[in-house]
Amino acid sequence: MQVYGYYDVVVVGGGASGTAAAISAAREGAKTILIETLGGIGGMLNMVGPPGWAFDHLYNDAGEQIIGGFTMELYNDLKAMDCAMDLPKPENRCLNSPAFVDIDWGGLLLFEKCREAGVQLMLHTLAVDVLKEGDTVQGVIVENTSGRMAVMGKVVIEATGEGDIAARAGVPYSQIDRTKEELDPPSITFHMDGVDWAKTTAYFKAHPDQIIPPHFKNNDKYRFINEKRYKALEECESILDLVRDGVIDELEYDDLTHQALANGDLHPYGDLGHFFTYRQGGVIQPVFQHTAQAVDCDTTDITEYSNGEMETRRQVVIAIPAIQKYLPGYEHAYLTRMTVGMRTREGRHMVGDYQMQVSDIDAARKFDDVIAKCAMSANEGGPFHSASTPGTAMNLNPNIVKHRPPEGGSYDIPYRALVPKGIEGMLLTGKLVSVTEDFKRDLLPDNIIWGQAAGIAAAICVRRGITPRELESDVTELQEILRKNGAILDGVK
Ligand SMILES: Cc1cc2nc3c(=O)[nH]c(=O)nc-3n(C[C@H](O)[C@H](O)[C@H](O)COP(=O)(O)OP(=O)(O)OC[C@H]3O[C@@H](n4cnc5c(N)ncnc54)[C@H](O)[C@@H]3O)c2cc1C
Repeated sequence: MQVYGYYDVVVVGGGASGTAAAISAAREGAKTILIETLGGIGGMLNMVGPPGWAFDHLYNDAGEQIIGGFTMELYNDLKAMDCAMDLPKPENRCLNSPAFVDIDWGGLLLFEKCREAGVQLMLHTLAVDVLKEGDTVQGVIVENTSGRMAVMGKVVIEATGEGDIAARAGVPYSQIDRTKEELDPPSITFHMDGVDWAKTTAYFKAHPDQIIPPHFKNNDKYRFINEKRYKALEECESILDLVRDGVIDELEYDDLTHQALANGDLHPYGDLGHFFTYRQGGVIQPVFQHTAQAVDCDTTDITEYSNGEMETRRQVVIAIPAIQKYLPGYEHAYLTRMTVGMRTREGRHMVGDYQMQVSDIDAARKFDDVIAKCAMSANEGGPFHSASTPGTAMNLNPNIVKHRPPEGGSYDIPYRALVPKGIEGMLLTGKLVSVTEDFKRDLLPDNIIWGQAAGIAAAICVRRGITPRELESDVTELQEILRKNGAILDGVK
């Protein structure tokens, strides 16, 4: 087979995490190639799947910043280009306080950073298999317009989100048992504009209970956040002030969704609620990412994946007239952008040398080989979202056990969760960082940091002539470089 080239680091998957990994490896001097099946990089941040690159999760619920590093580098650059909202006001900082950015400029910025760092891009290319000697991965096989070829690497970073390449390398994994638990539904995302926000503001002032999403209602844990929302709504001039100040990151429209449903004007698989995105110069647009969802769709099965794409498009066609008819201020709103495909939150759970579990969240566990902080909660016994509860996209099943770090704190992600069990020469990053089924991973800013750690780790391994597993015995240099680049590894709850 034709060998395309020999590299220090081969990154498969140009999502937020893979791109961060490639840039970080190249900055550490590694000869790096980034392989991506689409024509652009950024993955779920801008190309497929969700949202307005929310930049939630920068803080824990104690208000401490827990994510820095490459995530903040991107945020700061976008802010300087007037492509990002201000950070949430200090008094509003928590896990879900957003700092939305312009995702299209975000995607362009990633190209610039790849160019500056010297990352070689191989786009429109699907990685289809690995080359292995014994248990050691030595490269990947790819297919593109030039044919089938091998790309050889001293370290391969698996950042495909779905883990197709890790699975082919023989990394053990598990998947949710669908006979016992609903799959978190994949969804297609669309953006709109043309909302009359004054009308929307008047609606919420007249129906203040609607500013609290159903999953926050009657829940003591959210009382503090809910009270803050009521007060801010009362005092604001525009509902968008609440977004700009970091008080809300979404509008749920619970009552109006149920009205539309009762009148037969909406499909039952999602709701009319939305997140937001920021556009250069200050425009804020709604981003609907829970409005078209594929129920019971396993995206590791190509027939289900394709049928899901068809089904979610059908739902968008139903939902947009419902948005225009039912949501106050959206009468003349229009579609401005659709992502190129649906993307999944669930999928394969790869097994690493350490597999994160919910007890790590309960204990706000700290590890000596920490490479990142995280404050995301987990749902034991079911997904965060549901496509089988008509009128709401969130999973309101009362039997689910919610795990949150105590005292609004955070837990550590250890380097060992990036090293796949039983396989040499490979690192996992992004959505593939090793966690059990109950432990959710849909966190974009966090995935960027994990990518940065994987890229630096790979470069260190190449420099020292050791394997990613051998690096586990001493991660001091990795941590030092991460800290030097602004990563937050200590000093927070
Ligand atoms: C519907 C939905 C809503 C979400 N909402 C939020 C939110 O509000 N806030 C938040 O912080 N996070 C959210 N997330 C999670 C967040 O978007 C993801 O966790 C994060 O983007 C994952 O990044 P990644 O780099 O691991 O994967 P991806 O961004 O999926 O990147 C993987 C890349 O690999 C490429 N690829 C795949 N297979 C191959 C192959 N064989 N060869 C070559 N390339 C390949 C893909 O094209 C893609 O570009 C959401 C996710 C989903 C699905």
